[in-house]
Amino acid sequence: MQQHYHLWSIGCQMNMADARTLAARLESLGYAPCRKPEQADVLVLNTCVIRQQAEDKINTMLRHLQPYRAKRPGMTLAVMGCMVGKRELPQLQAQFPFVDLFLPPSEPEALLALLQRRELDAAAGALVRTRAGEDEWPVLPASSQGQAITAHVPVVLGCSHACSFCVIPSRRGAERSRPREAILLEARRLVAEGVREVTLLGQIVDRYGLDLGGGYELADLLVDVAQIEGLARVRFLTSHPNWVHDRLLDAVASHEKICPYIELPVQSGSDEVLKQMRRGYTVQQFRELVARVRARLPNAGINTDVIVGFPGETEAQFMDTYRLLEELRLDAIHNAQYSERPGTPAARRLPDDVPAEEKARRWQLVEDLGKRILGEKHAGLRGQVVRVLVEGRDAKRDRWFGRTPENTLVYFADAREQLGQLVSVQIDWTGPFTLIGQPAEGA
Ligand code: SF4
Repeated sequence: MQQHYHLWSIGCQMNMADARTLAARLESLGYAPCRKPEQADVLVLNTCVIRQQAEDKINTMLRHLQPYRAKRPGMTLAVMGCMVGKRELPQLQAQFPFVDLFLPPSEPEALLALLQRRELDAAAGALVRTRAGEDEWPVLPASSQGQAITAHVPVVLGCSHACSFCVIPSRRGAERSRPREAILLEARRLVAEGVREVTLLGQIVDRYGLDLGGGYELADLLVDVAQIEGLARVRFLTSHPNWVHDRLLDAVASHEKICPYIELPVQSGSDEVLKQMRRGYTVQQFRELVARVRARLPNAGINTDVIVGFPGETEAQFMDTYRLLEELRLDAIHNAQYSERPGTPAARRLPDDVPAEEKARRWQLVEDLGKRILGEKHAGLRGQVVRVLVEGRDAKRDRWFGRTPENTLVYFADAREQLGQLVSVQIDWTGPFTLIGQPAEGA
């Protein structure tokens, strides 16, 4: 009988890439995906703990799953991702004894081995499966396993930096680069399956290869991936302001397939706060970096991350951040309110002392600023032609959608089949987050 898996995933692109890898490996064992968790023989929750809210959501979900899990002795329930830190494991096992396996991020082997063992047991008649009625199951949000046109490929796992607010080093371990051959093999396989755009991922993707020695770095890897026949585009994220070197920028500038898009998290516009965050750069150094990127890649899309309400952040320090963002006019601001994460240096040393209402107020100010800047910048694109890689179709609005090389979302109507195509689109409507247009003459 056909066995099914359901993979529910939240969090960053690295988590999405882990989910895709696990899905592929489950399928190679003969499991087929199913949309409804209640139909799954293997249910995996791929978790994120970057914010308290995300962790709370998974805890609630697990509590709801407990009674249903009890009715399905033959099913396998696994929890994967950043919730599963080495230090946290004993506590998780005690709290959720009905979970079969806890898998650290990017390490699905134990689940695959367990399934293979269970298959052998089942073949020997030792396993009795029962199915509960579907309507007895809690409804879990749909899994997001990525698009067939775009895919993420992890190239650097873990992180050896120690930003004081961040749980990643303790959950994903020390930084290690994957071998070049494994990455190219994976990218070629994805392209053979129809993927047209690959994003190379790392917590600090610019550090790719530094731990391997030999001088083969991200710039070289991007060029090699860009040469894969059938691939339309390659991207990379996330960058760290200290590790973006000219060699990388030059590689982007000289290859059409490498997208001029860079994620540069600034986190704060105050030197004192950056020091407390242990980011390792100053505001002025960040400014100079943005100028350097723009000098080499004049039209690059530059996105940033900001944390408001970091412990001790004063109104004046917050306003430094606000004014820096106003001055730099970047292309997107991922804006978050500080959320204390247990086990981080900030949680140990710094009281979470900015009141919730104040964090929310600062967050809203940055949000409004980002919206205004983007609205103004996008307005300048009206009447212009942009090149869009079509990622899918919005069936409700009967139009295609895709992204520009700078990562701006574009919609356009066209009766022709355009999935996976590079289309020139003339823009006739712009908003802060999307552009709408029509195929340009002769597109
Ligand atoms: S660079 Fe800092 S914020 Fe980014 S993953 Fe590493 S520790 Fe976390």
